[in-house]
Amino acid sequence: MPAPATASTDGQLLELFSSIQGEGLLVGCRQIFLRLAGCNLDCAYCDTPFAATANCRVEESPGGGQFISLPNPVALDTLIRIIHSWCRQPSGVHHSISLTGGEPLAQAALLADWLPVLRKLLPTYLETNGTLPQALEPLLPHLDWIAMDIKLASLSGVATPWATHREFLRLAATRDCFVKAVVGEETPLAEVTEAAQLVAGVAPQCELILQPVTREGKPMLTPRQLLDLQGAAARHHPRVRIIPQTHRFIGLL
Ligand code: SF4
Repeated sequence: MPAPATASTDGQLLELFSSIQGEGLLVGCRQIFLRLAGCNLDCAYCDTPFAATANCRVEESPGGGQFISLPNPVALDTLIRIIHSWCRQPSGVHHSISLTGGEPLAQAALLADWLPVLRKLLPTYLETNGTLPQALEPLLPHLDWIAMDIKLASLSGVATPWATHREFLRLAATRDCFVKAVVGEETPLAEVTEAAQLVAGVAPQCELILQPVTREGKPMLTPRQLLDLQGAAARHHPRVRIIPQTHRFIGLL
């Protein structure tokens, strides 16, 4: 069993590593990934173990692929010391720190303490399921990028929280932001249409990225299906891109 966090500056972490961003608008950028434990959802297609663990995995050197264990909860001082040393090996290679999960906003009190300090090292990039707007709002001044999901019911297995996503995007769009929806063979055109209408209505400057679901390293939709989904969305929002999970093709974390 993981020990409980002892202070808001101690976090339940799963992983700390350096890799390229494989999804979304910053695809290909080198980032330091800080994977936090916990999530408020239970998506049917989830392939990310997010339960808190006794230890977190920390790469011994950035991008080296060898890991050591650190006991949870991890203190901010420890984290800063590691990231600070990574920022010099080699200097300038990292674009930003990706806060990912699970759902990072499930530890919003922790982020309120950590983000202002982390942002002194590198720009901050939040990967989020887009369902906790109240947790997001006070953190906005400390975030540079927000990659927000719209959870489509055809894949998540639960009704899409359209009103909550709308409220979340209204806030997130005050930062550099884009929206991502994972799509599968079973995704009806009506769902991507509704997602496109939401983005067009709330934040027309934001890109909507359709990400084909990947199983065993392969996108599960045909090119025709992807083009049809893009076409349906683009009728309502012209900024629609199809971007698969590229890091899987090249064997990176
Ligand atoms: S929001 Fe992400 S981490 Fe949470 S259950 Fe869904 S896919 Fe998994």
